[in-house]
This record gives sequence, structure tokens and C-alpha cells, in this order.
Amino acid sequence: MSEMSQLVKKQKQFYFSGATKDVNFRLNALNKLKNAILENESNINVALKEDLNKSVTDTYLSEIGFVLQEVSDITKGLHSWIKPKRVKTPISHLGSSSYRLPEPYGVTLTIAPWNYPFQLAVAPILGAIAAGNTVILKPSELTPKVSHLLKELISSTFEENYIAVVEGGVETSTQLLKEPFDYIFFTGSVPVGKIVMEAASKNLTPITLELGGKSPVIVDETANLKLAAKRIVWGKFFNAGQTCVAPDYMLVHYSVKDELMIKMKETIKEFYTEEPLSNENYTHIVNDRHFNRLSNYLTDGKIVQGGKVNHDLHIIEPTIIDEINWDDPIMQDEIFGPLLPVMEYSNVDEIINMINDRAKPLALYIFSESKQTQDHIINNVSYGGGCINDTMYHIATPHLPFGGVGHSGVGAYHGKHSFETFSHYKSILKQTTLFDLPFRYPTMKNGLKYA
Ligand code: NAD
Repeated sequence: MSEMSQLVKKQKQFYFSGATKDVNFRLNALNKLKNAILENESNINVALKEDLNKSVTDTYLSEIGFVLQEVSDITKGLHSWIKPKRVKTPISHLGSSSYRLPEPYGVTLTIAPWNYPFQLAVAPILGAIAAGNTVILKPSELTPKVSHLLKELISSTFEENYIAVVEGGVETSTQLLKEPFDYIFFTGSVPVGKIVMEAASKNLTPITLELGGKSPVIVDETANLKLAAKRIVWGKFFNAGQTCVAPDYMLVHYSVKDELMIKMKETIKEFYTEEPLSNENYTHIVNDRHFNRLSNYLTDGKIVQGGKVNHDLHIIEPTIIDEINWDDPIMQDEIFGPLLPVMEYSNVDEIINMINDRAKPLALYIFSESKQTQDHIINNVSYGGGCINDTMYHIATPHLPFGGVGHSGVGAYHGKHSFETFSHYKSILKQTTLFDLPFRYPTMKNGLKYA
């Protein structure tokens, strides 16, 4: 039996001991994890600086602070979420009552990506723990310092028969996916999402897929351009554009394009200085492969801002590229880097059709003061979620489940929704024994039986 099979077997045994069913056990585990994160805060900062050159402020905002807020929200809600949920019972079932009981799935697998390597590994497992599951976590091999830190942090806090980290790359993932997990939570690219779904189908394992894609930002002629410029530049270039919900490309009404571009260029200088390549708080591109992939796009269209690179350190300036067409290479796949292609439009229905011709986006952002335009786009384009007059903020509230649709993902999480994702809701009907309605039974009449 392989090491992984043994680990899964050990976790199954532990799960069946019933220990994780106790709500205080779960709360204690969440608390232990929170304390371990607090104790390791400076190590987490160092690991993220080494892997991605992430600044302490960005690390707090998007990794540590995010996860601590999730722990706090989940811990507060857990006692009420685990209660059976009474539901209505129809009159035909007179005498009985009905309820739904959340129960853990069992042994779960979480596979994480590299772009927010701490947050996207830890946030899902908070849901798994809260719902009473055991956890195997596979962090990304592309951010090795964070992966190693997670291994140390988890193994010094929990027994491996309850929560374990398995480090490694594609081979490790492939091996893990052969195991009969009770739930798989995957965050990563669309092609690998398909591999995970196929592997899960062999055991009919339920899954969540948090994937990516091309998320548009639309700016119409009524938009507040000053705010649009700030909020788009922030959302696009945070983490050097390596964010699943970053605006991938911009569609702007021709009448406001010039003014918006001027404001965006000013904002880039304000946020990242005139020399972003020397800005020590600017995130680097994760590796050579992604750096080269992104650099190749710099020959598309006309660069109107940025465009300079530092190959040795894997840095690409915040870059705006104008004169782009839907057929250009940069418009074919998710960019996942600090390059913003811009296209102008005159009629909003044209761009709705173009977006609908492609895979359903993970996010969509609308900058407009017109309620009619906002509603028109929201009601005519299918996408995971998004903002009106902002970018990315929708993922930072536990009250909005976060996830994609179609090619951008299956399922959603955050806050209570993470608990629900990792719970199976068992439906129970409790029948009375005080009386018994005869209608449903076959009856005998004159010696004949009618069903
Ligand atoms: P990826 O799909 O290459 O890797 C994700 C994880 O899958 C890693 O742990 C990796 O080791 C593993 N993996 C890679 N190839 C595999 C294979 N053939 N079989 C099994 N496992 C494999 O993604 P990435 O490059 O780490 O992350 C970037 C992608 O993730 C982008 O597309 C981005 O949009 C998406 N993403 C989505 C979200 C979200 O919440 N929706 C968040 C972050 C990133």
C-alpha cells in the first residue's frame, strides 16, 4: 500500500472514530490553527516575500488577514449552522415532520494554487474542519517556501490522521487523485480542473472547482472615471495581476476612453511610482515560464503605459495595451499577469454578445452610473460574480459565496458557504406512530387487491 493510501486509510479510521463530529473538537481545531497562524505571522511574511516578493501589507490584506477573518466568521456561526434545519412537510404527510441535517463528508482533499498560496490553501480547509471532515492539503509546488511552511505549521499543530499536508507537484497530485476521497476541493486552472473532475468521477467524489478565465471590466459613458481608474488599476495590478478575479481586459465606451486612459496612467504612477521595476513592494511573476508567457504578449497591440521588464527578477511593469482585437493572442487565454488589453465599444449589446460567445467569466465588473445599463449587463451575461463600480471586493465578504460558473468553476465558498460546501445535508422525515393514514396501502375489496 502506498504512503498516500495509508494516510487516507488512517484518516478514514480517525473519521469513523466520530471525534470530528463533536462541535467543540472542531472549534478547538479552528482555534489551534488560528493560534499557529498568529505565532507564524513573520515566517509567513518571509515565505511570501521569497516566493513572490509580496509586501507585508499585501500579505496581510490578501493572505493572513483574510484567513483570520474567515476563522472568526466561521467560529461565530458554527453552533447555529450545525443545527438540524426544520423544513415544511406537506399535508399529505400528516403527522410527520421533516428536517435537513448537515453532516461531514469524511476524508477531504484540497489542492491549492500558487498565486495566493497561503490563503487559497488555508481558507478552504477552514470550511472542511468546521463541517467535521478530516483534511489532506496539497499546496502548490511553484511557491515552495509557503508549501514547506504549511507542512511545518500543520504537522506541528495536528496529528496527520486528522489534518495532513502532502507536498509535491503534478505527480503527487495525480497519485492523490486516485484515492477514494469523500470530497475534493480544487483551486487552479481550467485544464487541470478538467483533470480533477475526471479523476473524481472514477469514485463519484463530489467536488468544488474554483477555476479562472477572462474576466471583463466594462466602463460606460456615464461612469465616474476618477474612481474607475483607481479601482481598475488596483484590481488589475494587485499581486502583479496574478489574481483569479483580476479584471483580465477592459471594454470602454469610445467617448470616455481617452480621459479614462489618462487617469489610469496617472494612477499607475501614483500607486507604483515612475519606476515600478525598482519598487520593492511590487509583486514578481512566479517563475520563468509564466514570465516568458506574459512577455510574449507585449508584441500585441500598442503599449500606452509600462511594458518594461526585468527578466532576472521576473518583474513586468503595470502595462496597458491599446489597439487590441478579440482575435489577438492576448485575448485567447486568461492573462494572469500585469497586462491590461483595452478595446473600445459604442453599443453595449455588441460587447455582451462578444462576452457570451466565450467561456463564462469568473468575474465581471461594470463601471456605470446608469442603473439601466448595470441591470442590462447583469441580466444578459452569465458569470460567477462581480461588482458594480468596483473590482475584486465581492470576494472579501463572507456573505457572498464566491465561485464560478461553467468553465470558471463549480460550487462556491467563504464564510457559511464554506461550511455548507463541505457538508452533506441529509434529508430526514420523521413519521408519527400515533396514527396511520390508510390511503397509500393497497386495499382488498371483494377478495381483489387494488394498488
Ligand atoms: P494549476 O491548475 O496549474 O495548479 C493548481 C494545482 O494543481 C497545483 O497544486 C498543482 O500542483 C496541481 N496540478 C497541476 N497540474 C496538475 C495535473 N496535471 N494533475 C493534477 N494536479 C495538477 O493552477 P496554478 O497555475 O497554480 O494557478 C493559476 C490558475 O488558478 C489560474 O487559472 C487562476 O485563475 C486559477 N485560480 C482560481 C482561483 C479561484 O478561486 N477561482 C483562485 C486562484 C487561482
